[in-house]
Amino acid sequence: MDRALLEAQLAELPIAQYEFFDTDELEFSQRIRMVCELECPRYGKTWACPPGVGSVEECKARCLSYPRGLLISSLTEVSDLADIEACLATRGPHEALTHQVMDLLKAQGLEVYGLSTESCALCENCSYPHGPCRHKDKMLPCVESHGIIVTALAEQYGVVYDYGGNIVTWFSLLLYR
Ligand code: SF4
Repeated sequence: MDRALLEAQLAELPIAQYEFFDTDELEFSQRIRMVCELECPRYGKTWACPPGVGSVEECKARCLSYPRGLLISSLTEVSDLADIEACLATRGPHEALTHQVMDLLKAQGLEVYGLSTESCALCENCSYPHGPCRHKDKMLPCVESHGIIVTALAEQYGVVYDYGGNIVTWFSLLLYR
């Protein structure tokens, strides 16, 4: 990888922070998946969510098959952080940013596995569970669906995940080989 070129390109994008890491530094937890199952209305609704993404062990093995990763964060200000629907409505620009960074990595000849925010909303009606995903090349499972404790990784590298006020911090992980 031409890291100097990539970092120059990242500097042009609205990224709050980024860090390169080894995927064996990722922490996986069944507990994160329990939150998906018990608290998220999107559980079992798309291929980007559990259980469609596979078990935590399967997700972990998939992630570790990509030895390196890039964490990116971006920020959005909302009028009320407690308004979950309003917060979720702001994720579009972060998803577009994630695809931009994925394209930069791919342009360097890397194979990339992207994990981003929340559930997939590319199709009006997801094919899950009766047919295969229609856009495997564009679909980004959410980080939590894989049981990854992204705050642990952020803490390890000093990446801020709570700016206070009404700032939403979005994270993506781009794993590559
Ligand atoms: S791209 Fe379409 S079919 Fe695939 S997970 Fe997203 S909504 Fe479902």
